[in-house]
Amino acid sequence: MALFVQKFGGSSVADAECMQRVAQRVYDTRAEGHEVVVVLSAMGKTTDNLIQLARQVNAQPDEREMDMLLSTGEQVSVSILAMALHAMGAEAVSLTGPQAGISTDTAHTKAKITDIQPQRIREQLDRGRIVIVCGFQGLTPTHDIATLGRGGSDTTAVALAAALQADRCQIFTDVDGVYTADPRQVPQASKLDCIAYDEMLELASLGAKVLQSRSVEFAKKYHVELEVLTSFDRRPGTIVKDEVTEMEHIIVRGVAADKNQAKVTIQHVPDRPGVAARLFKELAAANVNVDMIVQNVSEKGQTDISFTVPLDEVNRTRTAVDGLIEEIGAAGAFYDVDIAKISIVGVGMRSHSGVAFRMFDALSAHKINVEMISTSEIKISVVIRSAYADQAVQVLHAAFELDKVNEPVS
Ligand code: ADP
Ligand code: ASP
Ligand code: MG
Repeated sequence: MALFVQKFGGSSVADAECMQRVAQRVYDTRAEGHEVVVVLSAMGKTTDNLIQLARQVNAQPDEREMDMLLSTGEQVSVSILAMALHAMGAEAVSLTGPQAGISTDTAHTKAKITDIQPQRIREQLDRGRIVIVCGFQGLTPTHDIATLGRGGSDTTAVALAAALQADRCQIFTDVDGVYTADPRQVPQASKLDCIAYDEMLELASLGAKVLQSRSVEFAKKYHVELEVLTSFDRRPGTIVKDEVTEMEHIIVRGVAADKNQAKVTIQHVPDRPGVAARLFKELAAANVNVDMIVQNVSEKGQTDISFTVPLDEVNRTRTAVDGLIEEIGAAGAFYDVDIAKISIVGVGMRSHSGVAFRMFDALSAHKINVEMISTSEIKISVVIRSAYADQAVQVLHAAFELDKVNEPVS
C-alpha cells in the first residue's frame, strides 16, 4: 500500500461531469489498495470570477478580505468531490486548509506555508477514508485564512506530500505533461518524459504556469518526486526529479515567456556609492520583487538604472521610487509595461558553449531587439517588446530544435 497525493487543477474540476471523472480516478487509486489524499483547486474560472466580483465593489480590495473571498472557491470543490465519492460508495471526508493543519505566514494573497501538522489527515486515512483538502489556503498565526498566490494548490499538494512522506505526488491538469514550451502557444512543442527540479523551477518562475514555482522549490527541498499528467485520460505524464547526468545531453529543455513584467528606468542617477543601495533598500521595504537590473555606462557622473518588476507590483514600485527621485538627485522615472521576458532553460547549458550566441542570433534574424539580458548557470532571459513575445518563443523553440527532443540521437 502506497500513499498518493493527487492534485486536480481548476479545469479538471470545472463542472459536475469533470468532478465525476476525478472521483472515478481517485476511487480507482483507492480501490488498488492505496491511501489517497486529494488536493483540489476552485472549479473552472471561479477564482478569476471572484476577483472580478471584488473589483466591482472596490478597486483595491483589502487583502485579508480578499483571502476570505478567494478561499471559498476551493471549499466548494472539496465538498462536491466528497459527495461524488459518497455516491460511489467510497468513504471520503473534505477538509479546509486550516482543518488539515496547514499554517501560513501573514502575507495575505501570497502567503507562504510555514508548517503542516498532518495528524487529522493521518487519523482519517487510518480510518480508511479518502481525504480531500482545499488547495491554496492555510491559517495565519492570528487565525485568519490566507491564500498562497495564484496557482497555490500545487504548493499545497507538494507540501502535504512532503509532510505525509507520500510515495507519489501527482499534479493532474489540462495538458498531459510539461512541454518544451506552452503547448497552447507552440503547437510543435514536445512533451518531456522528465525534467530536473532546477529546470522546472526556472521555467515555472519565468512564466510556465503549469506548476507554481514554490511547489517546485518544496519538491526539490524535500525530494518529492512529482508527476504532471492529464486528468482527462490515463496517459503517463512528466516526472520532475533530481538531475541525472544524461539530462545534460540536451542543451535547452524549454522556453518560457512572462508577459506580466514591467521595466522601470530611473534616469540620470548620480554615479556615486550608496545610491543603488538606497534605491533597492526602499524597494525591498515595499516588498517589491526586483529582477533583472542593468546600470548603463556612466556619462558625466550620471547613469540610468533599469530593472524589471512584476506587473502587479508597479503601483507599489511607483510609490517607493517617486518618493526617492529628489533625495537621490535623479531626473525622473519611466515605467514601461509593454515588455515581455523570454527565457531559455536547460542544465545542459553548463557544459555547452555558444548558447547565448545562438539565442541572440535567432532573435536578430527576426529583427527582435533585445533590451535587457540576464543569465544564470542554466538559463538566459531577455527583455523584448511584448508585441514580439509569441514570435520570439516560436523562433527560439525552432532555433534549439525543441520539436525534435524526443527523436532518438543518431
Ligand atoms: P491547473 O488549473 O490544472 O492548475 P494551469 O492552467 O495552472 O492548470 O496550468 C496548465 C497550463 O499551463 C496549460 O494549460 C498550459 O497552457 C500552461 N503551460 C505553460 N507552459 C507550459 C509548459 N511548458 N508545459 C505544459 N503546460 C504549460
Ligand atoms: N484557485 C487558485 C487559482 O486559481 C489556486 C489554484 O488553482 O492553484 O489560482
Ligand atoms: Mg495551476
